[in-house]
Amino acid sequence: MSQYTPPIRDMQFVLHEMLNAEATFKSIPAFEEIDADTVNQIIEEGGKFCAEVLQPLNVVGDSEGCTLNKADHSLKTPTGFKEAYQQFVEAGWASLSCDPNYGGQGLPVTVNQAFYEMMNSANQAWTMYPGLTHGAYDCLHEHGSQEQKDLYLPKLTSGEWTGTMCLTEPHCGTDLGMLRSKAEPQADGSYKITGAKIFISSGEHDMAENIIHLVLARLPDAPVGTKGISLFLVPKFIPNADGSLGARNPIFCGAIEHKMGIHGNATCQMNLDGATGWLIGQPHRGLAAMFVMMNAARLGVGMQSLGLTEVAYQNAVVYAKDRIQSRSLTGPKASDKPADPIIVHPDVRKMLLTTRAYAEGGRALCMWTALELDKELNHPDEAVRKEASDMVALATPIVKAFITDNAWEATSHCMQVYGGHGYIAEWGMEQYVRDSRINMIYEGTNTIQSLDLLGRKVLGDGGAKLMKFGKMVRALCESEANNPAMKEFIEPLADLGDKVSKLTMEIGGKAMQNPDEVGAAAVDYLRVVGHLFYAYFFAKAAKIALEKQASGDKFYTAKLHTARFYFQKMLPETAMLIRKARAGSSSLMEMEADLF
Ligand SMILES: Cc1cc2nc3c(=O)[nH]c(=O)nc-3n(C[C@H](O)[C@H](O)[C@H](O)COP(=O)(O)OP(=O)(O)OC[C@H]3O[C@@H](n4cnc5c(N)ncnc54)[C@H](O)[C@@H]3O)c2cc1C
Repeated sequence: MSQYTPPIRDMQFVLHEMLNAEATFKSIPAFEEIDADTVNQIIEEGGKFCAEVLQPLNVVGDSEGCTLNKADHSLKTPTGFKEAYQQFVEAGWASLSCDPNYGGQGLPVTVNQAFYEMMNSANQAWTMYPGLTHGAYDCLHEHGSQEQKDLYLPKLTSGEWTGTMCLTEPHCGTDLGMLRSKAEPQADGSYKITGAKIFISSGEHDMAENIIHLVLARLPDAPVGTKGISLFLVPKFIPNADGSLGARNPIFCGAIEHKMGIHGNATCQMNLDGATGWLIGQPHRGLAAMFVMMNAARLGVGMQSLGLTEVAYQNAVVYAKDRIQSRSLTGPKASDKPADPIIVHPDVRKMLLTTRAYAEGGRALCMWTALELDKELNHPDEAVRKEASDMVALATPIVKAFITDNAWEATSHCMQVYGGHGYIAEWGMEQYVRDSRINMIYEGTNTIQSLDLLGRKVLGDGGAKLMKFGKMVRALCESEANNPAMKEFIEPLADLGDKVSKLTMEIGGKAMQNPDEVGAAAVDYLRVVGHLFYAYFFAKAAKIALEKQASGDKFYTAKLHTARFYFQKMLPETAMLIRKARAGSSSLMEMEADLF
């Protein structure tokens, strides 16, 4: 059975010592009252909820799964899920970073994200119910009419109602331009929506009294492709003007998917049979509006994998200290026992340290991105908002794809640490491996994220956003240029920064002749840029750890060890990735399809 202890100390290190979140909050009028103590109190309390309430339900959710009653379309979530959700709503956790105008607590996104990391460590499948609700809230908050906001946002804010995103159809997932669901305008201004959606997370459940579906569909006069998609709000129960529940809308769950992981989350086939909906935003501009939810969800998926990486690490460490097997190559370390604990073996350490570095690097990247998002949404200075928005745009595909790819590797390493026991269900580790796999697929596969990064975010603006991040890297390198203790971190960081610039120019040049060059390089490219981010954060962490290690606090010693391991054993992966990215598209594209 696995355990979970919220990593409060490392969260505090990242937020307060590395990123100085309090200074960012002070620069934003809406957050000027929020100091480090307030943040600490919230994450400590939130951590208790995750460890005490959500974590014990993780195995229950996996083994029971959800059950659909096809006769009345009701869906039962695993034992305890509903009660935990009630506790979540009653304690006000749903509303942390929501707008006070709709009953929210008005806290920074950063604080909410820290809480979500812990919820995901404790129980990813459960966390998807409120996680999607938050995305629906964001989308409606930005694109809904005032009337829609007044009716729906208070209930989504409190968590009394939950939300979904209904994009995927059986014949189209990545290429939403092909979607077929139809919306017929009605005389009263509403629409009748008909179609079949698949793989809808949290599409039906018994945890809240109403579910607000955000549905993509086409109007009768819609142009073909993505320019003809509109967004509709389709409630399970149509609310009356006072927020009480009215008629049941014909949007029903026809079946639930049986899947590899996240069994506690209902993945639903949703049938819309003339369901009543209301347009959100402009006709044919639905995909742009939905992107608000998709971007929030992409950051959310990164948090899912960060959470799994952390919890897998914690459990693998406990096991590696306890399990005795073979003697250390350098002679017995536990001579009172018949063998040494497996943590003495170099390769076991490599697996543990790799996972640890992915967790710490991922946490730094996620918290930094969340702080940039807080600036983008709330900073009074337009130039700061624009700069922050560029950083969030650049970082979003990296948070989604790099962290989720890494979590798949990390959870697999942690399973390996357990040997055969890792493959056996009762230890809990195989669930983390299974749960983590979906994170590389949904919300746009990781391939699509890499195309978004290289094609749109980097080459699409002539490298401007990447150069802004490059400036931060250079500033750190220049400020530490004369610090001999930092040489081991700064030299490889500066070197990678130069190599990324050259690689970007080279691919950009080749792509002008042949667009397949982007597709052939993108996945490796994203990984290289992901490492540039992590190297930057680990160099910053190492600088703080070097300054503070004399305090005797072992936290800094461990941080320095992890940073050294990252630079010596993980960063060299970039040399191979760059070589692969430069190898171009010909070996991929020249083989005729019928030879496969
Ligand atoms: C458990 C689960 C939960 C989900 N939850 C939701 C949800 O809540 N709401 C929702 O709307 N959807 C949801 N999805 C759907 C999910 O977002 C899609 O499965 C995903 O976007 C991929 O679409 P697809 O499955 O149709 O694959 P396809 O689009 O058919 O892709 C197949 C393969 O082709 C690749 N590919 C496609 N196009 C390109 C390209 N241009 N370049 C390179 N490679 C390409 C893909 O990367 C992939 O490897 C969920 C799926 C699952 C399994």
